[in-house]
Amino acid sequence: MLHAARTWFGLLCGFALVAFAQAGEYDYTSFQKIIQCKAPNGLFTPNSTDDVISIVKQAAAANQSVRVITPNRWSITDVLCSESTNGLVLSLQNFKDLTYNQTANTVTAGSGWQVQKLSEAIGQMFNVSFIHLPSFGSITVGGAVATGAHGSSLNHVPSLSDNLVGVRVVQADGTLRNITDAATLRHYKVNLGTLGVITDFTFPVVPLFKVQWTTTPYDESVLTNGTLLDLAKQSDGIYVYWNPHSKSVVAAVMKYVNSSAPGNDYWNYIPNVLEAFRAVQKTEYEILQSTGLTSLFCAAEDQLHARLTSNTGLYQLIAPYFENAVTKQKSGSAFGNGLTSTGFSYNMLSSFCDDCAFNEPEAIYFNDFGIDMPLDQLVPAITFTQNIISRLPVCFPLSDILIRFIKASDADLISPSGADYVSIEWDTTHRNDPFKDPELDLGWVNWVSQGYLLNFNAKSHWGKTGNFPHYANPVGIPLAAQLYPQLPEFTRYQQSIDPNGMFLNDFYKASVLGNATIRATKTYPKCALTYDCVCSTDEHCAAGQKCTDVPLPANKTAKICLDSDQQAGLLDTVGALVEDFNQHF
Ligand SMILES: Cc1cc2nc3c(=O)[nH]c(=O)nc-3n(C[C@H](O)[C@H](O)[C@H](O)COP(=O)(O)OP(=O)(O)OC[C@H]3O[C@@H](n4cnc5c(N)ncnc54)[C@H](O)[C@@H]3O)c2cc1C
Repeated sequence: MLHAARTWFGLLCGFALVAFAQAGEYDYTSFQKIIQCKAPNGLFTPNSTDDVISIVKQAAAANQSVRVITPNRWSITDVLCSESTNGLVLSLQNFKDLTYNQTANTVTAGSGWQVQKLSEAIGQMFNVSFIHLPSFGSITVGGAVATGAHGSSLNHVPSLSDNLVGVRVVQADGTLRNITDAATLRHYKVNLGTLGVITDFTFPVVPLFKVQWTTTPYDESVLTNGTLLDLAKQSDGIYVYWNPHSKSVVAAVMKYVNSSAPGNDYWNYIPNVLEAFRAVQKTEYEILQSTGLTSLFCAAEDQLHARLTSNTGLYQLIAPYFENAVTKQKSGSAFGNGLTSTGFSYNMLSSFCDDCAFNEPEAIYFNDFGIDMPLDQLVPAITFTQNIISRLPVCFPLSDILIRFIKASDADLISPSGADYVSIEWDTTHRNDPFKDPELDLGWVNWVSQGYLLNFNAKSHWGKTGNFPHYANPVGIPLAAQLYPQLPEFTRYQQSIDPNGMFLNDFYKASVLGNATIRATKTYPKCALTYDCVCSTDEHCAAGQKCTDVPLPANKTAKICLDSDQQAGLLDTVGALVEDFNQHF
């Protein structure tokens, strides 16, 4: 069927045999099915740069817009989506060239490489390594750079975006351009897919090294007494797992060591999960959420948290276990309270799953939240989080609350630009019908995320949290123009190379250019359930829920979806909460 489509559509467009195409509207979604996109002019899968140039030229002649699409689409915002009225999408899955320049100490890789596979390839073929990587190795190089995907380090450049030293890009007029000057590259570091079809990326590399992880449990007071920040400043990398329910923290700290150090472990952070176990977990999460049993959710999070320092138990969505890279046996004896696990950087910086918890069948789908703020906002943000958890208990059996630290970036669309920042992240489990039924944690998530965005100079990761931080909302969350001081330079550059906006999509027009008409499309019945909107009326929540005003510091207000019984219990305590806020902030 695809082959037939290719033949007639290819002939029609004048580039037969150069690119597979699916003619007619191509519908696609994010990996967890919440973000739904359509490309009216179809999907193309070019095999070469010449193919890309042909497609772009044809699209320009037909006044169509172009967006790169990746195989799995791990972002959960409309950044993924084609322009909805006249777009086509183009997959670079066949772009997997790889060259190593020994003199310059750089690698140049095609956009289709998955980050962990690329890291492994350069380690094994050339004995070199990236200095740091995002934790999830299934994302593509192109996707990682487009949204600024990061790991966690204050001492090393923590993302491929910030390491970028060259791109090869097909521009709107069909020209192929190699860009290596730092001033121009700054725009490409977080580009949201708007600066052309980037076929290849060049990054610096260092001699292959090993990473030694040490995991240590702490009381949650380390979050606010300066200990955590000190640990982050002293380490090569750090992942901090906070379980507010048990008031405890596990800090997993990275130390970079010589490649001759003993150890061949693998960080199985986002592991393969047996289908049968996925099915059990999925059923359990649905039952717990539909019955509102927060206490059982908390018991599940406690189990996850305990495993952080034991390396025993079954693999779940996130299972920060270490195992031997060859035998695949958990390296339990080398892991635990204050003990270490060591392996090659390509096995320890980034994790990869083939049969992930979120693969079909029996996929456990989730929303992934990531909100970034300046380092000096961490302590007040944690205090605020504790304040609201004390009123509206919450637990995260999939993830704990993850805290990561990110070294300053000069990218235009990273904020706070030029300053180190911290990311507070968590995952919520979908209901079986996520468009109808509310997640157990919905009210809390609404509250905490609005608080971060309104009170703590925060902004959402471009590919996480959902659309609401970027679109119309009744509480006045700042839009990109207020958040990114270098945004005018980005938009000026974008317009200079693509005056007709061929590579723009609705998401960019809404979030970066502030288009109010597009932003308004995210306000519709039940829009809060999928994090498209902040509720302004009850109809934006689930049936039976109330859109409720709750206080934030500095006399601000959040709007959150609550069940009637949650609302009754909470409103009784709001006065005391305002006093807490007045005392703390
Ligand atoms: C389980 C999980 C773990 C995650 N872990 C992390 C993490 O550790 N750190 C982090 O920061 N984020 C993380 N994320 C978020 C994720 O890294 C980002 O959303 C990333 O952008 C997804 O990459 P992708 O390859 O799926 O690209 P997509 O999400 O499909 O695309 C993102 C954007 O990139 C554009 N694009 C892709 N390739 C090109 C190209 N060649 N030229 C132009 N535009 C292009 C697309 O058009 C789109 O606009 C995680 C997400 C999940 C689901």
